[in-house]
Amino acid sequence: MRYGVIGDIHSNYEALTAVLKELRAEQVDKILCTGDIIGYAAEPIPCIEIIRDLDCTIVAGNHDYAAVGKFPSGYFHAAARDAIVWTAQQLTSEYTEFLKKLPLVEEFNDITLVHASLNHPEFFDYITTGVEARLSLDILKTKICFYGHSHVPLAIFLAGENVHVDRGSVFDLSNADKALINVGSVGQPRDWDIRASYAIYDEKNKSVQIKRVKYNIQDTVGKIYKAGLPEANALRLMS
Ligand code: ZN
Repeated sequence: MRYGVIGDIHSNYEALTAVLKELRAEQVDKILCTGDIIGYAAEPIPCIEIIRDLDCTIVAGNHDYAAVGKFPSGYFHAAARDAIVWTAQQLTSEYTEFLKKLPLVEEFNDITLVHASLNHPEFFDYITTGVEARLSLDILKTKICFYGHSHVPLAIFLAGENVHVDRGSVFDLSNADKALINVGSVGQPRDWDIRASYAIYDEKNKSVQIKRVKYNIQDTVGKIYKAGLPEANALRLMS
């Protein structure tokens, strides 16, 4: 099986459609999503509809839950919080119910999906270092766990008692007992590369590759301004 893994879409329609076009060309067998369909940008409904129609395996992000009252909005900085309030106003009950039903963790075959950390996934703690990864690696029951939340692609491997962090873009899983892989963000990358980020997991070759795709940022930015969303959410896409 070859999987396409996406996450942190954040209502960015142009980035999502650009990534899905690449995934169709890659002819992946299945798409997995690490959550945060909405938040920050201006097209929550089209993004939810696209994800829902993909019939992918998906978990909830903190923005998904916050917009439907399942996570406190006090957690967020002002620009994120304002977008959550705006997004909640756009959602009809059909979309609210879809987001409310998203699980925090999915587990199948050799794969686990979670938005942030596996220990207390409902707290949405960041994993950006080997130390922060340790508790999640200890309780991970499958070989590989895909996650997001920080919007920075990263792989953290456990081999015996050793934890190794790899900030590259091609990861070989064959020597690891377990791996936590952050697939980066489709809709709001934060690693100084403004292109949309996603991953391809090749089960047979035991490898994961982080891929980047250019998309029409100006269109996304224009829609953020037009919707009256915080300017910071537009500027963040360009730096
Ligand atoms: Zn996010």
